[in-house]
Amino acid sequence: VSETHTHFIKHIVSKDMEEGAYDEIVTRFPPEPNGYLHIGHAKSIVLNFELADEFGGRTSLRFDDTNPLKEDVEYVKAIKEDIDWLGYEPEEVRFASDYFEEMYKQAVHLIKQGLAYVEDLSQDEIRNMRGTLTEPGKESPSRSRSVEENLELFEKMRAGEFADGEKVLRAKIDMSSPNINLRDPVIYRISHTTHHNTGDAWCIYPMYSFAHPLEDAIEGVTHSICTLEFEDQRPLYDWVIANADMTAEPKQIEFARLNLTNTVMSKRKLKQLVDENIVDGWDDPRMPTISGLRRRGFTPESIKQFCREIGVSKADNLVDVRMLEHFLREDLKLKAPRTMAVLDPIKVVITNYPEGQVEWLPADINPENEEMGMREIPFSREIYIEREDFMEDPPKKYFRLYPGNEVRIKHAYFIKCEDVIKDENGRITELHCTYDPETKSGSGFNARKVKGTLHYVEATRAVPAEFRLYEPLIDDEAGGDFMDHVNEDSVQVHHGFVEPNMANVTGNDKFQFFRHGYFNVDPKKSSEDRLVFNRIVSLKSSFKL
Ligand code: ATP
Ligand code: MG
Ligand code: MG
Repeated sequence: VSETHTHFIKHIVSKDMEEGAYDEIVTRFPPEPNGYLHIGHAKSIVLNFELADEFGGRTSLRFDDTNPLKEDVEYVKAIKEDIDWLGYEPEEVRFASDYFEEMYKQAVHLIKQGLAYVEDLSQDEIRNMRGTLTEPGKESPSRSRSVEENLELFEKMRAGEFADGEKVLRAKIDMSSPNINLRDPVIYRISHTTHHNTGDAWCIYPMYSFAHPLEDAIEGVTHSICTLEFEDQRPLYDWVIANADMTAEPKQIEFARLNLTNTVMSKRKLKQLVDENIVDGWDDPRMPTISGLRRRGFTPESIKQFCREIGVSKADNLVDVRMLEHFLREDLKLKAPRTMAVLDPIKVVITNYPEGQVEWLPADINPENEEMGMREIPFSREIYIEREDFMEDPPKKYFRLYPGNEVRIKHAYFIKCEDVIKDENGRITELHCTYDPETKSGSGFNARKVKGTLHYVEATRAVPAEFRLYEPLIDDEAGGDFMDHVNEDSVQVHHGFVEPNMANVTGNDKFQFFRHGYFNVDPKKSSEDRLVFNRIVSLKSSFKL
């Protein structure tokens, strides 16, 4: 076992392998196709795939589609795409619904052993008779039905002779068990609903806690990894495995869910944001979905490294979203070309620079990675700088441009502000500056120094672009309804310019814009005549690992 990224589940598997408990480690990732995957799922994906891989085993993708009401093929497709994008290849792709016939047989097997019965009571009556932590449950009159009667009724349930809710099948376990999950849990219910995979073939559907252990056993899963909320269900999982007509003996192991600051992490809540048009779909760049993170510009490697580093534990944890951002910077630092973009432009006219002249200045593509080589950027009489890089009336220690002050234009020359041009409303429209030809970048000029360096884009060749800057979607997690904490101002749109060498970028190309951070070309909003960048993360964060 490698000692980096080791965790308690790895120790369990490692011990099982040493003891020869299994020939091969088999894990599965079992999403319910009722929404898009989020970063919490990524944690489970990384865990399952990399665990099996480390021990030479295999991992399958299984759609846990036993509830026809909320499931949809759109989600099946999106889930496959996300796993593929993360870089994992399931050994097999299975659907739990393909096992409905087998599950039905297993239910019949339980009935025949006197371990399941058909119940006539309503859901409410069942709940009321279940008892509490301190009080045992009451046995239902249906509990004493004969095997024959149960077999007949269960067959009629399947044949569609009852309405939804009229009957259920319950496991006959122990109404006084201290674990309420073992007080004759419902294992089949009636639902006259068309299923995305099996259509109208079935009108009875197995409950999760009965179906899941069977799915694992059918597929030969050895370690069935799930999140902590299923811990209380483990005795039921083991009961199903022990009493089913199966030889495989998968074991359930629970770990703590990933929770991130400043977001919500549940398909139900994410769906609500989509349905109520708070966001622009499941892949909105503010969403913690895999598709949202992808569109925002996060890389598979940054997400995977994040998942590995946060570790696997039994204690509930809330992880700072800035940690995810840290891994994006780590991944792109040496890979992303560095370039200049002006997000909120103001025009600078360099009055002593010859009209019509253009110079192409050499600039490194990534100063931290020389192998990426050089690019050439134009400089001429008219350039754009950031509006915020100029102040008419600056405070002390302001080192950018102001009347009479000299600054360096990155990769180019020193310029000095001579005049401020305003429109009739007093808004600054242009700055008139002069440049000093002696100060060219790379010339070794050192007769005087300036304190500020500003980035720029040459005006006549600049490529117009839209920049979308994001704030957290949820501004506060102090309890209550998350919808009351939605940040109304989570997108800021700017219209500015990028360098001319960026005219031909395509969706999901990533860059570091000098001083502004890492940006991704939005694959959905960009087109041939419209360039839209999502800011992935800013350059610096106060966050330390
Ligand atoms: P949600 O509540 O967000 O809808 P879920 O648990 O219902 O999530 P499933 O589709 O059932 O979603 O999950 C597939 C797998 O991903 C399960 O094994 C589940 O335990 C795991 N998983 C889901 N959310 C998280 C999370 N936040 N952290 C770690 N694993 C998760
Ligand atoms: Mg679920
Ligand atoms: Mg859930």
